[in-house]
Amino acid sequence: MLEVKNLSTYFSKDDGLIKAVDNVSFSVGRGDILGILGESGSGKSTIAHAILRLVPPPGRIVRGEIIFNGTNLLQLSESEMIKIRGAKIAMVFQDPFTFLNPVFTVGEQIAEAIQLHQSGGKKEAWTKAIAMLETVQIHNAAQRIHDYPHQFSGGMRQRVMLAMALSGKPDLLLADEPTTALDVTVQSEILKLIKDLQTRLNLSVIYITHNFGIIKTLCQRVIVMHKGNLVEEGTVVQIVESPKDEYTRNLVNCLRALKR
Ligand code: ADP
Ligand code: MG
Repeated sequence: MLEVKNLSTYFSKDDGLIKAVDNVSFSVGRGDILGILGESGSGKSTIAHAILRLVPPPGRIVRGEIIFNGTNLLQLSESEMIKIRGAKIAMVFQDPFTFLNPVFTVGEQIAEAIQLHQSGGKKEAWTKAIAMLETVQIHNAAQRIHDYPHQFSGGMRQRVMLAMALSGKPDLLLADEPTTALDVTVQSEILKLIKDLQTRLNLSVIYITHNFGIIKTLCQRVIVMHKGNLVEEGTVVQIVESPKDEYTRNLVNCLRALKR
């Protein structure tokens, strides 16, 4: 359903060119969860931004194809791309506050997102918003829908962000380190929820993290990024058992050392 071919995205700075993503190719099938693993600055977020065509200046997609359900997104006009964002491909990230508006209740925000992407009136959107909160397993959804983002805990805010992201019924969810700021227990609850949603909604997911443990719990396949290059690709089992790349070997060895 998604095929990224020879994607290169560079940032031109006064002091030179940063090759944030350089000639990267991978694919994601319907209902698959692909992990993107790599340390900070390796180009993971830039891949996600490129897929949505939201690379901030001075960044630029300089080469490649992003084929989504048979269409090269890089050839669409901006108005065609707007119809893809949120409705077909949605994104969640580490900080829900960049996504949620503090002055509106979560109900108002989810209902607005629903009205943007689906037909039906305000009342219907409101009912669907409550159902969305239930989908992401927020208890007392009918009451909590009147709360503001700051009235939710960190983990609950991530659930609200997921509810908003899923309100356009996307086929593909880009998750950029959504659990990094959470403590371990809450993190594993959110991972469980993402896995559950992926199965129930037959979602394709790209899960971005620097944490190999998360990749192991969540993904079957993984690509490893290092300094803008894709250095390894395979199933999680393959990569743990026989990492080909030196960088990945070090990652796996570190993980083993931690377990001892
Ligand atoms: P990751 O998500 O793996 O931490 P990023 O994709 O954010 O990595 O960054 C990859 C590279 O691109 C880094 O060298 C980073 O400094 C650079 N980069 C990312 N965003 C910008 C930006 N807005 N302006 C300049 N350079 C950027
Ligand atoms: Mg990032």
